[in-house]
Amino acid sequence: MRPYFSEHFGNASSIHHHGQETRAAVERARESVASLLGCKPAEIVFTSGGTEADNLAIFGLVKPGDHIITSTIEHHAVLNSAKHLQSAGCEVTYVPVDGQGLVDPDDVRRALRPNTKLITIMMANNETGVLQPVEEIGKIVAEADVYFHTDAVQAAGKVPIDVKRIGCDLLSISGHKMHAPQGVGALFVRKGTSLTPLFWGGSHERSRRAGTENVAGIVGLGRAAELAKAALDRGELAHMAEMRNRVEREILKKVEATAVNGANAPRVPNTTNIYFDGIEGEALQIALDLKGLAVSTGAACSSGAIEPSHVLTAMGLPAERARGSIRFSLGKQNTAEDVDFALSLISKVVTRLRELSPVYNKEAVSH
Ligand code: PLP
Repeated sequence: MRPYFSEHFGNASSIHHHGQETRAAVERARESVASLLGCKPAEIVFTSGGTEADNLAIFGLVKPGDHIITSTIEHHAVLNSAKHLQSAGCEVTYVPVDGQGLVDPDDVRRALRPNTKLITIMMANNETGVLQPVEEIGKIVAEADVYFHTDAVQAAGKVPIDVKRIGCDLLSISGHKMHAPQGVGALFVRKGTSLTPLFWGGSHERSRRAGTENVAGIVGLGRAAELAKAALDRGELAHMAEMRNRVEREILKKVEATAVNGANAPRVPNTTNIYFDGIEGEALQIALDLKGLAVSTGAACSSGAIEPSHVLTAMGLPAERARGSIRFSLGKQNTAEDVDFALSLISKVVTRLRELSPVYNKEAVSH
């Protein structure tokens, strides 16, 4: 990326040689992203990230009077878009998930209506890592005259993606979930899918996304896509899954009254969401952070109150269990020593927090 902040500064839309250099770099990146997703370079639209890609897919297609089908566990980039569409005169069906966090494709089929325009169901969930049956949903779509978008922000670079196998018309990815920089992403738009742009301006990105390209970011996304594809082709992610499995196994063994949320569903290799009975997720998150381990909760702070994760509550987990759950995610730089470090901290910190907890009742815990 570095030269594209300095010596290669041309605007990729300019005719002069500076512009031609950066145009070539943008088009190379487009080829790399297309190769990761199994589509043609012309079917890639660069965006400012996953949120914009999701918004372009949804608002680019859906108009008042249309019906869309989505799920209760989508990222807010999709959920809040759906909510906004409802206020703008669209109908939305939110299909539920089961206790493992999985959408039932038959629910999607049953939700179809004559005015259904779009189905938007994510490929991998950002809190649990659970992989949705997108290929089965793609088959339903093939029989009905509807568009299919999938938010693959958490799946890209972690599992192989082939848009033809999925049968989707639109698919979103985001740079910073695959070791590219923040603030860049892409939307796959199947050839022949006519989208109304979000922004009005120049004819960049084949008139699908106006505005001068973020060349350095796009170059970074392209290189990350090449590295991700190479790692997937070489089967390198099996190692990450082994480390993730070790985190789960050891926590469940060493720390009583714990469970993995979505344990029995297919999942991306880097994520696990673990419940610690009697613990407030935020307290655990802060305590671990102070010791150098960064984890997250799916909780949202709205109007001063911490709301339990919408994903875990949609899975039917009680609010206390959702509040006591933490997401651990690994990146490709993580090592076995990092896992040792995390494991050595977690049982100590959880024990200390439980000692302080007014609600944790050791005697009541069933092993
Ligand atoms: N979709 C999912 C599943 C995500 O996890 C995220 C980010 O965390 C987004 C969309 C939004 O992507 P971005 O932060 O690039 O806008």
